[in-house]
Amino acid sequence: MDIRLFEEKICDIRFCRTCALSAFEQWKGWPITDAVPSLPMIQDGKCPVCGGTEAVISVNIAWLNIHGPYNTGLPSYWILKVNDRHTFEKKFPSKWGLPYYELVKCERCGGAILTSIFIPPIGWQLRQQCEWCNFTKTAEGK
Ligand SMILES: [Zn+2]
Ligand SMILES: [Zn+2]
Repeated sequence: MDIRLFEEKICDIRFCRTCALSAFEQWKGWPITDAVPSLPMIQDGKCPVCGGTEAVISVNIAWLNIHGPYNTGLPSYWILKVNDRHTFEKKFPSKWGLPYYELVKCERCGGAILTSIFIPPIGWQLRQQCEWCNFTKTAEGK
């Protein structure tokens, strides 16, 4: 599948900013290999978990690679970062894809399931993770 087809489907999901920031403080890993934390969405103007009213939009969340001080090759690990969309690379909202790309229906339990898409220098990788039934699906292509 052409990467541009993913760009057409980019949508804005409104997550709770407070819950997102505290979940991201704990997260450290590798895109696609490690699931991103599930986040509550703002419903009727507030977060069902903490009551917060401030939202973070899914396109403003990116993976950021961290290199150790003497590490010049592959990143040591990745973190999740909230930023303004325009401070990320313009072409695809983040040059590494979108950890929170879209919500689809879980093919096993019918619950809402999150899709992450990682765009390394070549090709793409995708992960779907259902927080209700633990269904996981990964795919990759060019
Ligand atoms: Zn919250
Ligand atoms: Zn499921």
